[in-house]
Amino acid sequence: MKPAPFAYTKAKTLKEAVTLLAKHKDDARLLAGGQSLIATLNMRLSAPDLLIDINGIKNLNGIAKKGKYVEIGALARHAQVEHSDVVAKHAPLIALAMPHIGHPAIRNRGTFGGSIAFADPAAELPACLLALGGEIDIAGCALVYPTGPRSFFSLCGDGTALTVRLDDAGKAAGKARTAKLFDAVKDPVTEKGVRRGDTWYFVSFTGDVVPLQTTGGTTKAGARWSLLDAADRKASWRPGGMQHLSLHAASGRLYSLMHKGGEYSHKDPGTEVWVYDLSNRKRQSRFALEAPATSINITQDANPVLFAIFIGAGKVDVYDPKGGKLLRSIAEIGFTPTTLVSY
Ligand SMILES: Cc1cc2nc3c(=O)[nH]c(=O)nc-3n(C[C@H](O)[C@H](O)[C@H](O)COP(=O)(O)OP(=O)(O)OC[C@H]3O[C@@H](n4cnc5c(N)ncnc54)[C@H](O)[C@@H]3O)c2cc1C
Repeated sequence: MKPAPFAYTKAKTLKEAVTLLAKHKDDARLLAGGQSLIATLNMRLSAPDLLIDINGIKNLNGIAKKGKYVEIGALARHAQVEHSDVVAKHAPLIALAMPHIGHPAIRNRGTFGGSIAFADPAAELPACLLALGGEIDIAGCALVYPTGPRSFFSLCGDGTALTVRLDDAGKAAGKARTAKLFDAVKDPVTEKGVRRGDTWYFVSFTGDVVPLQTTGGTTKAGARWSLLDAADRKASWRPGGMQHLSLHAASGRLYSLMHKGGEYSHKDPGTEVWVYDLSNRKRQSRFALEAPATSINITQDANPVLFAIFIGAGKVDVYDPKGGKLLRSIAEIGFTPTTLVSY
């Protein structure tokens, strides 16, 4: 079979590719190595009007060690990853998986980003990424944060937030971008935002609080402030964990899981919880945890308790958030707990 007719264009920059995608929406597809896409076109499983070739975009095929992470560009070919010393040394699971992908001709053209985006459940790389807790940097916007009736915002790779208003039929009735809120390369915010009324609070890798006020279907940045003072920074304190922020709405107290670490330690477990008063943005107290935690959550009642879990520990520690005393531990909650929800 032959593919249905399509137009073809070659994007020179990431911005050009993203702009074309935004313009043509579901009628367009990115073309990377073409190893999966062209097969779906030939079988007419997909029939986009436009193919946007991204192979000419510069600086998207690098492989480098960045802090504790290995960064692999979307256009890195499978063969390049397979023979990379950096990958072999610092991400050996990926190095072991690569020779199992198809055969050399496929690996010479197929790209790392294409395999992740295609997300074939039988493919090697999405499984490796999941096993390693990998992260994907994206140029578009991701996740959905509700902001009130029929509106939400998403966080975008260029450091802005995109607010979308829906009509009664659930279709997009309006979209607006904020100004740049954070630098996604130098100091990104984590996606673990917490909400109090009209305001969402995000925290950057280095501990800056980025509030987003959302009223009437619009989103704007509040004043940015830091969880850390100069002495904290000198001592290498940072926020981190899997669910590292929690907020007690009635008292306006923000709880942040903190650890000492360097660049890219934003998923490291916290050893302390620091408590902030949102009305004056000052730290009220801090307490050491009896055991490191990857997630915290405070209950919303008048006398709250703070739950803390560590992925792999299989227990919930219950703390008095006032003095930080460990009240009790609840055992046997499962092997890999990550998320705490309280009502
Ligand atoms: C014969 C054969 C055998 C194979 N065997 C295996 C195997 O054993 N294991 C395995 O894991 N894979 C296998 N593959 C798949 C191969 O790994 C592909 O390279 C991969 O799935 C897609 O990468 P690509 O660069 O070719 O992407 P393309 O085919 O160009 O694109 C795939 C999809 O991803 C989208 N896309 C591509 N790049 C991006 C990006 N940067 N951002 C957002 N979207 C993007 C495209 O729009 C398209 O929808 C095989 C393929 C073939 C043809």
